[in-house]
Amino acid sequence: MAKVALSVLAHPDDAEFLCAGAMTRLRREHGWDIHIASMTPGDCGSAEHGPEEISRIRRAEGARAAAVIGATYHCLEERDLLVFYNERSLEKVTRLLRLVQPEIVFTHSPADYMLDHEMTSTVVRAAAFAGPIRNFLADRLPHQMLPHIPHLYYCDPVELKDPLGRDVPPGFAIDISGVIDVKAEMLAAHASQRDWLLRHHGMDHYVQTMKDCGVHRGREHGVAFAEGFRQHLGHSYPQDNLLGKLLGTC
Ligand SMILES: [Zn+2]
Repeated sequence: MAKVALSVLAHPDDAEFLCAGAMTRLRREHGWDIHIASMTPGDCGSAEHGPEEISRIRRAEGARAAAVIGATYHCLEERDLLVFYNERSLEKVTRLLRLVQPEIVFTHSPADYMLDHEMTSTVVRAAAFAGPIRNFLADRLPHQMLPHIPHLYYCDPVELKDPLGRDVPPGFAIDISGVIDVKAEMLAAHASQRDWLLRHHGMDHYVQTMKDCGVHRGREHGVAFAEGFRQHLGHSYPQDNLLGKLLGTC
């Protein structure tokens, strides 16, 4: 059976900014199954559509982006600006982990520009730990426990900096030069977001911003485009760098 990589990030387009290059390579070079989950449907990500309408649009965009590499999109149906580390969100993410049985999990940097990202990071860290624990919410959760805690990787924070503006150097980088066009195609599937970001963040050139981050990381690591990651190495989490071993670090 194919091995599985899963990203659990806050919003429907976060994977296409932060880790779609590495996931595309896992898919194409190693035949892994890829799952892309967002905590919310991006219900606040519009100045013109109401929350239900933009959620419907963005779930479809998430599915279209995932389909570019034959991945599966999941929405965990929390709400924008309301992602918390609580029992409900931990149950949802643990349930998803047990459903797809990932060897590799990607989530946000523990320090990032907004709290939905930081809370998601915390929830995913906890869910990875809970995945193999039989007695955790035993009356509600499916019993196909994970055989062990998966390899957990934190993506670069947005704009590669923490909330205080400090650079966050990655533990290692993955060369995504060969798949940058695929990553751009996936990001472009989020058509509703370019206009919104322009209006709210003053950010034009939606796809260009992603490429600029890739170029920045790439320049530091001697390749054209790179994604940076840090591995969670706390007690009982896997200590070997499976992602780096499969894709090579730069
Ligand atoms: Zn986000």
